[in-house]
Amino acid sequence: FIIPDFVSFVKDVEDIYWKCKTNADGAVANYIPQLARYSSDSWGVSICTIDGQRYSIGDVDIPFTLQSCSKPLTYAIALEKLGPKVVHSYVGQEPSGRNFNELVLDHNNKPHNPMINAGAILTCSLLQALIKPDMTAAEKFDYTLQWFKRLSGGENIGFNNAVFLSEREAADRNYALGFYMRENKCYPKRTNLKEVMDFYFQCCSMETTCESMSVIAATLANGGICPTTEEKVLRPEVVRDVLSIMHSCGTYDYSGQFAFKVGLPAKSGVSGGMMLVIPNVMGIFTWSPPLDKLGNSVRGVQFCEELVSAFNFHRYDNL
Ligand code: GLN
Repeated sequence: FIIPDFVSFVKDVEDIYWKCKTNADGAVANYIPQLARYSSDSWGVSICTIDGQRYSIGDVDIPFTLQSCSKPLTYAIALEKLGPKVVHSYVGQEPSGRNFNELVLDHNNKPHNPMINAGAILTCSLLQALIKPDMTAAEKFDYTLQWFKRLSGGENIGFNNAVFLSEREAADRNYALGFYMRENKCYPKRTNLKEVMDFYFQCCSMETTCESMSVIAATLANGGICPTTEEKVLRPEVVRDVLSIMHSCGTYDYSGQFAFKVGLPAKSGVSGGMMLVIPNVMGIFTWSPPLDKLGNSVRGVQFCEELVSAFNFHRYDNL
């Protein structure tokens, strides 16, 4: 086993879990009305190692929408199908140093990176116009859902229509980003912006649990092979790129501090999810809706920082 004494490892994880549970800071996102309905008490942690050992504690089977945690996944599909050259002729690799939905492009008039809204909307346009131009919107939705499912080892991934509708209703900023990028000729030819926006909201509204997300994180930790099914879902080169961007850009404008303190690739989302990848070891997913000012889950960030102070998981711990 990759973690030989799993029982004592998870005992320590449990201690960190209870410590974070008492943290009452942050506020549940309310700019998407349906997200405001989640309880600020919900708190779950799930672990899946690259050899399939699993552990979960807390609210790990309550469904929530992926939100920005879908961004590394759509980016991975784009890389898998188009390769990094094509993808990065449309989107950069640099942290934006701004909020996740800031109306800003980089010096080349491209979105800064695929982990913020502008970059993820752009990634959705690549899937739509370059990868599957002949598919209907329904087929594209299904295609993407199937990818997410394979990454999770076939666990249950659903869709929350109320969140999708709520999100689309309250999407002035995302539409502004969408049009701003069209004005700057960011998209591939044949892009249908209205469909791209719907597709982006759909990816954000895919719904699953902490437990299933930990398997997706573990697939990334395992170089693209799902530990529960042993299916080779992504190529290792693709996973390398995904993890690199998560490392530098995964927690919005906290990314630099996160890379410094935790030293691991991660991705947060506005529904309170936090995906943490310990390459060649395990995937971890935490879910707790209250967010800090930068949009990261308060308990999720605390958990990652506590974990790395208890174990040598930081990229530069073992020098
Ligand atoms: N669906 C959210 C939005 O577009 C995703 C952002 C996030 O998770 N930070 O605003």
